[in-house]
Amino acid sequence: MSDSPESMTAPTPVVSLDDKLALVKRKFAKDSHIEVDQALFRQDTLKAVLFVCPAKVYELNEETGECLVNFENCLECGTCQVAAREYVKWDNPQGGFGVSYALG
Ligand code: SF4
Repeated sequence: MSDSPESMTAPTPVVSLDDKLALVKRKFAKDSHIEVDQALFRQDTLKAVLFVCPAKVYELNEETGECLVNFENCLECGTCQVAAREYVKWDNPQGGFGVSYALG
């Protein structure tokens, strides 16, 4: 890395979260590793799981009131298990599938 005055004042490139997420390598399993108890989801007035998942795995179907699960996007961070363990049953993806991170 250069210590020239130009390099010290160069702006840091801005990379959006979506661009960063696009760099995550995933191998999709056929079957979902996430199940949502729809009855309990409907009873949850806060529905925090719709907002806390960084990968936008959970979506509300406005017509049916069901929680849609885009399991292919999962980053395996565990946040949904903190926010909605009562009705989100999460398991590790099937062996050999899921995300792989460059640093483990
Ligand atoms: S583990 Fe993380 S990325 Fe995966 S569904 Fe839960 S909150 Fe979303």
